[in-house]
Amino acid sequence: MNAMPAIFFGHGNPMNALLDNEYTRAWKAIGASIPPPTAIVSISAHWYRPKVAVTAMGRPRTVHDFGGFPRELFEVDYPAAGDLTLAYEVQELLAPASVELDTEEWGLDHGTWSVLFHAFPDAKVPVVQLSIDERKSAAQHYELGKRLARLRKEGVLVMGTGNLVHNLHAYAWGQRVTEPFDWADRFESAARVAIVNGDDLRLVDYENQGVDAELSAPTPEHLLPLLYVLGTRQKNEEVSFPVTGVDGGSVSMLTMRLG
Ligand code: ZN
Repeated sequence: MNAMPAIFFGHGNPMNALLDNEYTRAWKAIGASIPPPTAIVSISAHWYRPKVAVTAMGRPRTVHDFGGFPRELFEVDYPAAGDLTLAYEVQELLAPASVELDTEEWGLDHGTWSVLFHAFPDAKVPVVQLSIDERKSAAQHYELGKRLARLRKEGVLVMGTGNLVHNLHAYAWGQRVTEPFDWADRFESAARVAIVNGDDLRLVDYENQGVDAELSAPTPEHLLPLLYVLGTRQKNEEVSFPVTGVDGGSVSMLTMRLG
């Protein structure tokens, strides 16, 4: 059996959950283009805590982890089931890292459901979410990703959801900015070249790459999900970027697909 593709989604604005635009249409096409996964493990920028935890509920709740958006966004429900067997397997695979089975704190946050709402609209595929441990280094996150690689051979979709470039301070809220800032463009281009060349360590080492990196990833949580997906890379695997674009000048919507 070929490994299931692994995908890093650039999720951007939470409102994408409800919008029909070039990004959400592309997410839909991605969902339709891959073999039906047995389950999904999602690593989202929005569950960034001082621990490793995996959701272990029969039916993870839809977490509305934002403020200041229209009421209809708070009413979105993504009714996917959880998968306890998979949660245990993730716990085992990540050992000796200690992984908490989360039965009440979290669920599926908008990093996950704003994308899945389009990619798998019928919510028939069970989903577990994995937290990002804020105490770990970029290299440690990449290593955790490597330990998840085996799941792909079992038909599990490993997805990361964040944004390669994510600077909300520079973001042009409500303005029609179509061109990325120069630093965003340079950082994204360099990252794409490294990914295509199989130079994952350049991404792992992103913090030491000067001002472009500091502006593009002023905080780590939106970039780290990409390192998990890269960690699952299989030998000689095809890489593609099915979604491109920079929203508001400083949020890269780049999606990367392995396999
Ligand atoms: Zn986000």
